[in-house]
Amino acid sequence: SKGAALVTAVAQRLASLRQQVDETLCPFKLSQEQLQLVKARMRAGLEAGLKTKGSSAIKMLPSYVYRTPDGTEHGKYLALDLGGTNFRAMMVNFKRQNARLYHKIYTIPLEIMQGTGEELFDHIAQCVSDFLDYMGMKNAHLPAGFTFSFPCEQTAIDTGTLVSWTKGYKATDCEGHDVVSMLREAIKRRNNNATFDLDIVAVVNDTVGTMMSCAYEDPQCEIGLIAGTGTNVCYMEEKKEVDAELSKMCINTEWGGLGDDGSLDDIITPYDMEVNQNSINPGRQRFEKLTSGMYLGEIVRQVLLDLTRGGLLFRGHVTETLKTPGIFETKYLSQIESDRLALLQVRSILQQLGLKGTCDDSIIVKEVCGAVSRRAAQLCGAGMAAVVDKIRENRGLDHLNITVGVDGALYKLHPHFSRVLKDTTEVLAPQCNVTFLPSEEGSGKGAALISAVARQMHG
Ligand code: BGC
Ligand code: MG
Repeated sequence: SKGAALVTAVAQRLASLRQQVDETLCPFKLSQEQLQLVKARMRAGLEAGLKTKGSSAIKMLPSYVYRTPDGTEHGKYLALDLGGTNFRAMMVNFKRQNARLYHKIYTIPLEIMQGTGEELFDHIAQCVSDFLDYMGMKNAHLPAGFTFSFPCEQTAIDTGTLVSWTKGYKATDCEGHDVVSMLREAIKRRNNNATFDLDIVAVVNDTVGTMMSCAYEDPQCEIGLIAGTGTNVCYMEEKKEVDAELSKMCINTEWGGLGDDGSLDDIITPYDMEVNQNSINPGRQRFEKLTSGMYLGEIVRQVLLDLTRGGLLFRGHVTETLKTPGIFETKYLSQIESDRLALLQVRSILQQLGLKGTCDDSIIVKEVCGAVSRRAAQLCGAGMAAVVDKIRENRGLDHLNITVGVDGALYKLHPHFSRVLKDTTEVLAPQCNVTFLPSEEGSGKGAALISAVARQMHG
């Protein structure tokens, strides 16, 4: 009958739709073998970075942090934290294993991120000035730690030359310059009565700050991980690799650079290539572009564009909204993927973003988000497995218990990222027992702790 024929036609159309969506998402589904390969490449990248100076994909930058806190740290410190999206100024008071903390958050407007270096550091100095006024501490001369969440070549705890901007930053005349001097000069540029003194005793990567703040609570914490706007890991490395005299040093791996030499080309999809091409640093931070908050939404958008062009989504209508970079912030991915949301709610989130679709469209969008974020978490897990196994082998152990201090919105707010990360790490590093410890105010508090440790070391 006609009815039966229609039912068959609809069923066939659905089956073919299903098949095409599955085919599109297939390259995002990594096999165990592929993940093992990523682990091996990360491991090789870490070793290469330790051996060569500067030129390898993973930079392995020394941090001049020789130990984690031991609880004897005390006193008041300022912490200044330039992160992926904002600047935070903080006052931390350590007293008998207790930290009290006051802070204020300042946004960094896009035109400042991408303007001149002078403007950027003037803006930071202005924020610090505002914070000191707010705290009534303009004349207090507290030691300050500066968390600077970008790759810096350090030769001491209190100097760091910016190697290259990452994430959304491209302020001019900063690469190749010492960020501590740039901040000091910006403070000096202020006119007499608006100026103040700052005793910057440490410049710190956010991973290092996060590790330190978690180690304050858990002495087994010897790794710091950021899964946020960007991604990166630091860990305590044994002496032979970094310095003959000292027993350990924290290494800022800058693992986001894995693949910059082509080593991830076999897992990179055409959607990733598009995202890379449209970014402000094409060819760089390839691992970061597969795994961090700033890029996941863009990968999703590229897939949706493709599905829509193929007539599989939004009735084949490519709208201006869908063509707009940046519409899918991490927080929307987190919402869309939340299992507590009914499809109707997913649909209404999409509507708020300007994407009108059916419930069937919502199912597909949710699947795309899931495939992209799951791959990100698995890749991070593969990287983490390489790091913990390296530490285990360094120490000649059959089994290692270790804690990873973690910060970043992707880790903290996404409904599945943290679980997939942990599961993958477990499977790929079966000889390690890895505990992930989310940090509270990690990177800033850590900078204050590092300042405290640095002060103790220099008397
Ligand atoms: C930077 C790292 C930083 C990470 C997380 C990356 O883009 O290169 O230095 O630790 O983002 O903020
Ligand atoms: Mg941060």
